Amino acid sequence: MVGPDPQWLRGILPEANVLAPGLSEGVIERLLTESPVLSRVAEPTPGFTLNHRLVDGFRRYQPSIEASRGCGMGCVFCEERDIKVEKLGNGIALAASMARVREQYDGEEIRPYLQSSMFLPNARWAAGFAKEMHKLGLDISWRTETRVDVMKPQTLERLAWAGLRVIDLGLEAASPQQILAMKKADDPQRYLSAASDLLVACRDNGVKAKVNVLLYAGETQETLEETTAWLDDRRDAVAGVSVGPVLAYGPPKTADALIEEWRRLGARPVNKRAAASSGITAMHLSPEFPAEEAEAASLAISRHFMDQDAYFALKSFSYYPRDYSRKDFDCDVAASDPALLPFTVKDTVNFEATQG
Ligand code: SF4
Repeated sequence: MVGPDPQWLRGILPEANVLAPGLSEGVIERLLTESPVLSRVAEPTPGFTLNHRLVDGFRRYQPSIEASRGCGMGCVFCEERDIKVEKLGNGIALAASMARVREQYDGEEIRPYLQSSMFLPNARWAAGFAKEMHKLGLDISWRTETRVDVMKPQTLERLAWAGLRVIDLGLEAASPQQILAMKKADDPQRYLSAASDLLVACRDNGVKAKVNVLLYAGETQETLEETTAWLDDRRDAVAGVSVGPVLAYGPPKTADALIEEWRRLGARPVNKRAAASSGITAMHLSPEFPAEEAEAASLAISRHFMDQDAYFALKSFSYYPRDYSRKDFDCDVAASDPALLPFTVKDTVNFEATQG
């Protein structure tokens, strides 16, 4: 998925014969048959189950099942801000897809990621989906992601019944000032209250909530403290966090407007030519948070909320290869500099013991 400036990309990737921006399966088909399409397209979710067996060594990886595409909620930093959310398809078909994917893995235990930028089921849809999963005898634990203010606790409860065990929640900030600056929501109080209700529902229904936090333009010690204090107050419902400073993606044509807006919030690019040369612009977020400080603060928050058990529990669910064991992880932790890890190491891992 690339942005809408093929000419810029042509300069960066002179070896490419054809460039096709957008969500692109349809484009790929056309590339194989006729001439390329160069407009930004929003492809609908494929109406078929992906055949994981086509991937070499597919058994090492957890499968992905697409639930819906698009979002369109307008968060300024996001590529999907203006791609409209698709209506969620039929729950019965989604359950059938889960069954087909498990067949591809010969009935072995799988932990699929249900892909969807904004998973937006209502309680009725969730109940129907859960019923179908049970009818098909599918005892599958799965993971998904959504915005933190769009899913009602009753819906979450039913999804847990359908096998939801981990959810990635794009909170981004709990500072009203930063929520407004990101255009994440118009009413920060309502946003945070909905987020709080959902986190409590996750805790009460045995769903691990991994919360995404974004250090944004204009960030100050005070705004960051608001976010961490809010999360601390709900610590028993937060299984882990994923934290990082905002970056401007894309060539000057798309990044410049964003960087200009961020300048007004007190930020400035680390390298003014980065958009043209690489398409990734790191930012000094504010006088209080130059880029290096923002990186250090991100790591500190991550380490504050996670130890190695919490980190492994989240990463091993749908991300790590299926054969990457806790023993492998402990060996890698023992061989790493603890100060650079995004989690605290509770006890020193006995490397020799893990070799046995
Ligand atoms: S809610 Fe998430 S996916 Fe949607 S525009 Fe905002 S950041 Fe992007």
